[in-house]
Amino acid sequence: MNWDKIKYFKKHEWGKEPEQANFRLIEILDNLRGLSGSKIIINVCWDYTGHSKNSYHYLGNAVDFVFKGELSCLEQYAYISMFPELRGVGFYPDWHTPGWHVDLRQDCLKWVRKNGIYSYDRNIFIKTIIYKDWQKND
Ligand SMILES: [Zn+2]
Repeated sequence: MNWDKIKYFKKHEWGKEPEQANFRLIEILDNLRGLSGSKIIINVCWDYTGHSKNSYHYLGNAVDFVFKGELSCLEQYAYISMFPELRGVGFYPDWHTPGWHVDLRQDCLKWVRKNGIYSYDRNIFIKTIIYKDWQKND
């Protein structure tokens, strides 16, 4: 881990035990920060409890975060999707600031968690992102 390579994040922003985070994930989020031009707030990366069974958080291969700024949710997703290594992407429209889970799983999976319910339908995923932007602008 060479934190000198990381342009935008400070180590402490990656939780209580930043060395448990997959460094590739930190590099990708740093590039996402640069590309989007938007500040990113990390909610949690590595964790030992409180996530779904077999969560990638327990391996340090997942991160929950929000963009802080003016990007629409659809713009946010467009930037995320420019990083093909982020094969797992969850959208969480109910958070105080709607945000994202991304992870380095092997197979592509997209989901939304709304009202505590997970949906793995890709059309619902896209429609929920667009609907959230529409609500915000209404
Ligand atoms: Zn997560």
